[in-house]
Amino acid sequence: MDTRIFEAMEAEVRSYCRSFPAVFATGRNATLTDADGKSYIDMFAGAGTLNYGHNHPAIRQAVIEYMLQDGVTHSLDLYTVAKRGFLTALQEIILKPRGLDYKVTFPGPTGTNAVETAMKFARKATGRQNIIAFTNAFHGMTLGSLAASATRTKREAAGVPLGGVTRVPYENYFGDLDTADFLDKILSDTGSGIDAPAAIILETVQAEGGLNTASAPWLRKIAAITRKHGSLLIVDDVQTGCGRTGTFFSFEGMGVTPDIVCLSKALGGMGLPMALVLFRPDLDVLKPGEHNGTFRGNNLAFIAATAALELWRHPDFEAEIVATGAKIKQRLNAIADRYPYLGTHVLGRGMMLGIGWTDPTIAGRVSQRAFSEQIIAETTGADNQVLKLLPPLTISDTELAQGLAGLERAISLELQTCNEVAPFVAAE
Ligand code: PMP
Repeated sequence: MDTRIFEAMEAEVRSYCRSFPAVFATGRNATLTDADGKSYIDMFAGAGTLNYGHNHPAIRQAVIEYMLQDGVTHSLDLYTVAKRGFLTALQEIILKPRGLDYKVTFPGPTGTNAVETAMKFARKATGRQNIIAFTNAFHGMTLGSLAASATRTKREAAGVPLGGVTRVPYENYFGDLDTADFLDKILSDTGSGIDAPAAIILETVQAEGGLNTASAPWLRKIAAITRKHGSLLIVDDVQTGCGRTGTFFSFEGMGVTPDIVCLSKALGGMGLPMALVLFRPDLDVLKPGEHNGTFRGNNLAFIAATAALELWRHPDFEAEIVATGAKIKQRLNAIADRYPYLGTHVLGRGMMLGIGWTDPTIAGRVSQRAFSEQIIAETTGADNQVLKLLPPLTISDTELAQGLAGLERAISLELQTCNEVAPFVAAE
């Protein structure tokens, strides 16, 4: 595999390619093939971008047809037929059936663009500066969203102070301590030293932060806290959204309706860059042009996104995600039961699942071993302590069977070299 041009020209900061050093050529659903014709099962899916797999036939077809008609590809925030189609589909297929009344804005096409925009709306609407963010959060790498992100190495790389954010513990961070009560206390106490926040931003599952999941009761408490203290709830659904947790939005069925929601990644259907911020209509406070960006009108992404939303018209689509997630979880639980002496434990929900061990180095070693078994699965968490599985939601039974068998082989090969340790005790 000739990788010399990448190593010679690309900056040292490149990272995923170090874990998976193939030169990829083609992809179809959950199968990636490299330039030598070697196939891999993709349980990584562009970190949750390829929820509908590589080159989903219906999505790809829609994009090809649009291009062959000379459809407009770039349009800033001009009105286009492609954008009209997307907004109509969003309203009819996603928002209305869920009883959600949101206006939207298209920021630049990345997740971090969505988060920056959401924070700007919240700050302007409330006239406050402070944003509450959680331990192990990940919200992006531009300065505003990086300030809300928790990973020390990434924060230090900013090279400037990161401000405007107060960090508080996520659910279960301190075992028995109810971290929602803690948050309520410091916001209620005018002597706590914490400024009244414009917003509380959270992920319902911390996708980059180790697959910590928030419970519905905790989320409801946090939502109540935002209302009590005159601030807004921002759910960052960049990685958890578009079906990853089993429903289109990760907060569905949790009894909370965020004031602002960030989407990106899988929104663009087949990896085409696109992001969206949804917000309560009364928060529409930015004046024309007060926020902008050249790539807010990626019409190929609008076309792909519309074709992807069409998949959600069939109730079976959601049911299938839930069923596949349950199948994967069952298999992971069976693996965990086999190695309790290594503290093996299963995390996540829906089709955002993972497996961890007391020894934080095991996940990385298993990921490497899995790659030699032609399975692509990355790690997550501050210490990369969890092996994360994000296969396409559309993964076929054959691909899933192949992927899980390869993973199981990798785990058993890696764990036979490990010594016994005390069992893992999950925080309650
Ligand atoms: N928020 C969350 C929850 C994410 O997982 C990510 C990306 N991993 C981002 C924001 C940033 O997205 P992007 O890399 O597209 O800027």
